[in-house]
Amino acid sequence: MGAKGKKKKGKKGPPESGWWPGFGTKATMSTYFQYPTPELQEELRKIAQAIVAPGKGILAADESTGTMGKRLQDIGVENTEENRRKYRQLLFSSDAALSENISGVILFHETLYQKADDGTPLVTLLEKRGIIPGIKVDKGVVPLFGSEDECTTQGLDDLAQRCAQYKKDGCHFAKWRCVLKIGRFTPSYQAIMENANVLARYASICQSQRIVPIVEPEVLPDGEHDLDRAQKVTEVVLAAVYKALSDHHVYLEGTLLKPNMVTPGQGCKKTYTPMDIGRATVTALLRTVPAAVPGVTFLSGGQSEEEASVNLNAINTVDMKRPWALTFSYGRALQASVLRAWAGKPENVLAGQQELIKRAKANGLACVGKYEAGSIPSLASNKSNFVKSHAY
Ligand code: 13P
Repeated sequence: MGAKGKKKKGKKGPPESGWWPGFGTKATMSTYFQYPTPELQEELRKIAQAIVAPGKGILAADESTGTMGKRLQDIGVENTEENRRKYRQLLFSSDAALSENISGVILFHETLYQKADDGTPLVTLLEKRGIIPGIKVDKGVVPLFGSEDECTTQGLDDLAQRCAQYKKDGCHFAKWRCVLKIGRFTPSYQAIMENANVLARYASICQSQRIVPIVEPEVLPDGEHDLDRAQKVTEVVLAAVYKALSDHHVYLEGTLLKPNMVTPGQGCKKTYTPMDIGRATVTALLRTVPAAVPGVTFLSGGQSEEEASVNLNAINTVDMKRPWALTFSYGRALQASVLRAWAGKPENVLAGQQELIKRAKANGLACVGKYEAGSIPSLASNKSNFVKSHAY
């Protein structure tokens, strides 16, 4: 085709510009696009696969300053930058055994630029242990005007520049959390479509900057709904997310999904076994998540440490197909015991680290279906970590 966009004689199909002459519209629509270069595809795929290697999962240590404040308040520690630094230093300077079960850590912006007592950047502690640093890139949940108290997540505007910088500073994957609520009339079409689209846009920007996006549409556990309703809502939400990712030409092999497990609402009167939860969760995923996705890294969503391990184990043992790795990306379910053991005291640092390694081990076993309930007790293993309306 000539430089002026004219078609050569006898050549069929649209000109390279993608515009059919005479139609005034892009006739090839969303089927005309380019995937990332083979080199970029390979880079993204390798990062994603390393994160979900057998027996490994993610420590989500990306609590925002406000959320960290609540966690520290629970153990009587003041929410200062120094105390947050000391806490993250405790986590990342754990024994190298941590990396047997933790492949990646999600950081909050502040942590990425903090240093250990001896001046080593905290991110270097992770790199030295062979743990891949990741970064939370969303800028928080905001209300969706006109909805029934639903929300979306902001932070797209300068995302490409921020991702470029984070990649230079050692982060190879990112997280963006969206929140959906189960109510009589929710999640609404408005919330489902908006959150699916913003996740897809985020994912495509991350990939353009060589960062693996973790796509997190969290259906909150608040409510009295039963397991069936939680499953159906999760299916509808995930179906919309994967349609949007396809529309944005996101390279699925270089992504990870971070969903809620399918659990009954917190206020549900019926009881279910871990196997019921496992079956409902895997069914929802089988119906909606393409097999091209290398792995699913569940959030713990307020489950106790032990529940999160037992349910993950059930997910990996139910008699069903599992075309993806099914592992963990836990925040509260990896840190509740650590915080309690540490209590802000220097003499308790080792005790805190030992709790972390115990939970990492338990979940490392659960993600390959080998965890035996109760076999790894930890300080707060049976304490519920539920936070009401955990949106903002
Ligand atoms: P929880 O495991 O505490 O739900 O947190 C995981 C997370 O990163 C939510 O975005």
